[in-house]
Amino acid sequence: MNETGTVLISSGTVVPMTQEGLFFSADLLIKSTRIAKIAPSIDPPEGCRVLDARGCLVLPGFVQTHVHVVQSLARNRADGLTLLDWLSLRIWPYEAALSAGEVAVAARLGIAELLLSGTTAALDMGTVHHHHQVFAAAAELGIRFVSGKCHMDRGDRVPEPLLEDPESSLAEAEHLAARWHGAASDRLRYAVAPRFVLSCSPQLLVGCVELARSRNLLLHTHASENLQETDLVRSITGKGNVAYLADLGLAGPDTVLAHCVHLEDGEYDLLARRHTGVAHCPGANLKLASGIADVPRLLRAGARVGLGADGPPCNNRLSIFHEMALAGTLHNLRHGPGALSPWHVLELATWRGAEVLGWGQELGRLAEGFLADVVVLAPSLSWEPWGDPASMVVFAGGVGNVRHVVVNGQVVVEEGQLLTADAETITKEARHAAQLLAGRLAWS
Ligand SMILES: [Zn+2]
Repeated sequence: MNETGTVLISSGTVVPMTQEGLFFSADLLIKSTRIAKIAPSIDPPEGCRVLDARGCLVLPGFVQTHVHVVQSLARNRADGLTLLDWLSLRIWPYEAALSAGEVAVAARLGIAELLLSGTTAALDMGTVHHHHQVFAAAAELGIRFVSGKCHMDRGDRVPEPLLEDPESSLAEAEHLAARWHGAASDRLRYAVAPRFVLSCSPQLLVGCVELARSRNLLLHTHASENLQETDLVRSITGKGNVAYLADLGLAGPDTVLAHCVHLEDGEYDLLARRHTGVAHCPGANLKLASGIADVPRLLRAGARVGLGADGPPCNNRLSIFHEMALAGTLHNLRHGPGALSPWHVLELATWRGAEVLGWGQELGRLAEGFLADVVVLAPSLSWEPWGDPASMVVFAGGVGNVRHVVVNGQVVVEEGQLLTADAETITKEARHAAQLLAGRLAWS
């Protein structure tokens, strides 16, 4: 289903994210894939679909800069571990075991969860195989998705099925990019995604850079998430993790590094100077006991930062509201109260995230001519008495507030119900697939 036409979001309180602190009552008219008009009162054109937003907030759709929807079926099966054990004991065996059908089921569950919680665009990393299934799910469910298969060619405790030779691994990425980059009216884009330094040879990383730059694709990897990881990278390469990646070409406005928790002093400036994107994933960083990325310092240095829930098994939810609440409070421990204001957190979840995805010119704000990715949030008791919208959303927002969601002009969620797929079927298929996987993987 790919219906886009004319949609009027009527009588809401619009928070356009074009200026800090700005909100006003208005109607918002969408024509095809773009925002056509925002004005105090707009008469619905003939045949126009009207979404009632009375008493609601109307915001740009939320943007996540780092997720793994393919990991959805391992949720609730990977608790109480730090990163390298979490990967080698749970996630890699799980990813190695996934059939094409199971990748499809996992992706549909993750994408449905994202849409129902107001995330309209995400940067995603898959597993090594069956990545067509992820794009097919994104195409069908209607999310704006930048995604790529994962590349791995070495590393301790990596199961054999996940190890590829660089040449065939990159050929597969090229094939996927040819099929999906720019598909669904440019709602889908390809990102080249080496997993992290510890599972990629320098030859593979350089190959990824060359492929991405030759096709104008985003580069997406993990960096400096965990101290054990950064120590190992230093012992192998003699360099800091981010500095090593930059030396190989993984730096710049077309590169997104997830985490950046354990940075060396010079790496803050390096990230800022090269305009490299950073995906801040506080939920995952706390659950895996990795640490707290110094986002206020990164922002002060001028770095580009967005938010991400990371994988369902390390969070365990894909809700941007959880990440916003953490980003708005966690940094107070290091920098004092108000370290990141709620308006700054909302920026990370909207236009700053869109910038990290390379989409900042036309996404992440509500303005005429911008792409029509919009979320309508209904109030809850935790918002009362009504006050500063950023405070309400960041500190007390939740999935239950999400009423309507529009992506690229298409209404994908209405009155809290997913329109592009049957959520009950997705749930049923996910439970069944997870049960079979648990048997194969001998999960207790
Ligand atoms: Zn990740």
